[in-house]
Formats: sequence, C-alpha cells, structure tokens
Amino acid sequence: MMKAITRRTVLTLLGAATASSCVPLAAPSLPRGYSRQPWAAPRISMDNVIREVVGHRPYRPSGFVVEGERFDDKLIVHNYGHGGGGISLAWGSSALATREVRGMQTGEIAVIGSGVMGLTSARLLQDAGWQVTIYTRDVARHTTSNVAAGE
Ligand SMILES: Cc1cc2nc3c(=O)[nH]c(=O)nc-3n(C[C@H](O)[C@H](O)[C@H](O)COP(=O)(O)OP(=O)(O)OC[C@H]3O[C@@H](n4cnc5c(N)ncnc54)[C@H](O)[C@@H]3O)c2cc1C
Repeated sequence: MMKAITRRTVLTLLGAATASSCVPLAAPSLPRGYSRQPWAAPRISMDNVIREVVGHRPYRPSGFVVEGERFDDKLIVHNYGHGGGGISLAWGSSALATREVRGMQTGEIAVIGSGVMGLTSARLLQDAGWQVTIYTRDVARHTTSNVAAGE
C-alpha cells in the first residue's frame, strides 16, 4: 500500500536523523583569568561616579573632509568634520588620509591634533614608514574623542 509523504513526516524523519547524529560537545575551555561564575551585579551608586563630561557632536550636512592641499613644497592633508561618527570612521578615514602621501619619499611628518583622527593617522603613517611627530593643543581627557570614549 502506498502512503503519501506529508511535510510533517519529512520534518519528523529529519529531526530524528539529526538527533541520532548529535554528539554532546564538551564545554570549550575558557581563556586564562576567566571563570564560569555568573557575573556579579554592578554596584551602581553616585559614590562611584568619578567624572562627568559633556561634548558636542557637531552635525555637518556636507560630510567630512579628507583631501590634500598644496602650500608651495608642503602638502597638508585635511582629515576633519566627522560630526557624530568620528569614532566609527576613524581608521577608514585616516587610511584615506594616508593614501594622500602614498608614493612620496618617507621621512619626518607632522600630525596636528591627538584626537582619534590624529592618533589613527599617526599610527597608520608610522606603519607606512614615516617618522611621526604629533603637535596638539590638548591631549587625551581633554579632546572630544576622549569625551566620546574613543581613546
Ligand atoms: C558625547 C559624544 C558622543 C559621541 N558618540 C559617537 C559615537 O557613538 N560614534 C562615533 O563614531 N562618534 C561619536 N562621536 C563623535 C566623535 O567623538 C568625533 O567625531 C571624533 O571624536 C572627532 O575626532 P577628531 O580627532 O577629529 O577631533 P578631536 O577629538 O576634537 O581632536 C582634535 C584634536 O586637535 C587638537 N587641536 C585643535 N585645535 C588645535 C590647534 N589649533 N593646534 C593644535 N592642535 C589643535 C585638539 O587639541 C585635539 O587633540 C561622539 C561625540 C560626542 C561629543
């Protein structure tokens, strides 16, 4: 006698086959210093607040700027105006900025500013073989990037 195969039959057979082929996995080992203890609830209290900061997230309808500009024999590469997205965009934007000096003879180079844009640019320029000096008005704790937890 022929019996029609229904969708339910197929799913039941598939489920049984999967269950019979499953081998219980051992729990993966944890990196050093980690434990399987449940996380402790954070102790949230005003006494634990160490700092309150406020910063601007300037909106630029025109978007950010990454471009080279020549002044006689000097090349200035602009990398600014990221508004509320500078932390996310920093590495990519600074990679675009460092492209502007690609092919030039490496040597000493100045980076102005030590926010997330300056620091990522400096690091990428170092990787590309440049000797970088950062000139900055404010260092971490006093930059917008720091207020936004980006450095
Ligand atoms: C509260 C808040 C939340 C944010 N949240 C996010 C987020 O979730 N995700 C995100 O992607 N972005 C976020 N942003 C935006 C992001 O923080 C900025 O886009 C980014 O930090 C800008 O980086 P920057 O290096 O261009 O500028 P800055 O961090 O302002 O750094 C500028 C640097 O240039 C120096 N400088 C300025 N003038 C001079 C001068 N005349 N001479 C020498 N040095 C000078 C300053 O001292 C500083 O070192 C947030 C911003 C704020 C304020």
